[in-house]
Amino acid sequence: MNHRTIGQRIRKRHTEFDHIHAGVFEPQDDVFGRRQIRIATRNIGDEAFLAIRPQLLEASLDARRGLHTRQLNAPRRIFQGLESKPDQFSKLGNGGRGLVVRPDFLYPADVATEGAPMKLGIIGGSGIYQLEGLTHIEARKMETPFGAPSDEFICGKLGGREVAFLPRHGKGHRLLPSEINHRANIFAFKQLGIERIVSVSAVGSLREHVRPRDIVLPDQYYDRTKRSVEQTFFGRGLVAHVAFAEPICPDLRAFLFREIQTVLARQHAPKIHLYNGGTYVCMEGPAFSTRAESNSYRQLGGDVIGMTSLPEAKLCREAEICYAAMAMVTDYDGWREGEAHVTVEMIIANLVANSALAKEALAHLIVTLPEERACTCDVALKDATLTDHGAIPAALKTALKPIIGKYVG
Ligand SMILES: [Zn+2]
Repeated sequence: MNHRTIGQRIRKRHTEFDHIHAGVFEPQDDVFGRRQIRIATRNIGDEAFLAIRPQLLEASLDARRGLHTRQLNAPRRIFQGLESKPDQFSKLGNGGRGLVVRPDFLYPADVATEGAPMKLGIIGGSGIYQLEGLTHIEARKMETPFGAPSDEFICGKLGGREVAFLPRHGKGHRLLPSEINHRANIFAFKQLGIERIVSVSAVGSLREHVRPRDIVLPDQYYDRTKRSVEQTFFGRGLVAHVAFAEPICPDLRAFLFREIQTVLARQHAPKIHLYNGGTYVCMEGPAFSTRAESNSYRQLGGDVIGMTSLPEAKLCREAEICYAAMAMVTDYDGWREGEAHVTVEMIIANLVANSALAKEALAHLIVTLPEERACTCDVALKDATLTDHGAIPAALKTALKPIIGKYVG
């Protein structure tokens, strides 16, 4: 690419900078040795170029090779945050006027590349009903053999990668935990081709040291729900048992841990503790626990308690989807003497305080996840079915094709 072409592009796109959205960008050197970032634009599906000075870029690159904008929220907000210092502007093509990307708006992405398709599902819980920064948005109303999911799926792209978002309780938070059709939700994700799901949910702490606003990435569950028949795709003529000793995908959890850690470090948030592992007690509610129950869960080894994550983990395993949960601690449940009793108000206040952090970590994750899965979640059903394939009702085979199609003809 020669100088003239670059200059023309900058002039041409300059007025459209309002529409630039965040994404993953590989820096490129121009003919003068100045580094640039390619940035896709929201409205025209094309690319604009921002030139930034190498020293700024290097300060933000931290010796890694990729980078993308840190703030993945509304594009206007990003650009309001860009400084207008003429002496730092690249003089490429726009008469000395231009934009400088502040280093703190950039962070490295060491594995992702723009345009890579990687289908991640995100289930938003209390306090997270949408995901900012998505482009190419399409609302998908899904039908499944198990009925309707919680809501329409918001499908789109972030950093060039495909994402499907589902608000677990529906828009406007209409569904009780026990009213959520988990089977329909996970089945629909499978229909959409989703291979990995990260869920966000509010939990109460069962441990003194796990404080409100801390984040726990559970690696175990204890089931206190009463609806096991609704937590499997099987039955009605097909018997299958998946391994569930390790209910969370270890790889996805490790990637999630890394990204949350990164965000916490950048935000200088030493008061928020991130726990890599923990036992999630799943109850149905909707009332919170009694003190006696809460104390018994502590004796059982529970670390946090919530109402939604376990059925998702079970169904994801059956659907051969990697699953990891981000449990946002909002309260001390009912066990702690002298603690104010948990209220919805308390939960929402702590969730709102943490939701920006959660969304930013998810945005990091979306663009940095390796495309290929190296875990064994994708073969979870391989040796799990007991029923003779010939004895499985034909209608069931058809209905469950997205789940069992690769094993049962
Ligand atoms: Zn996995």
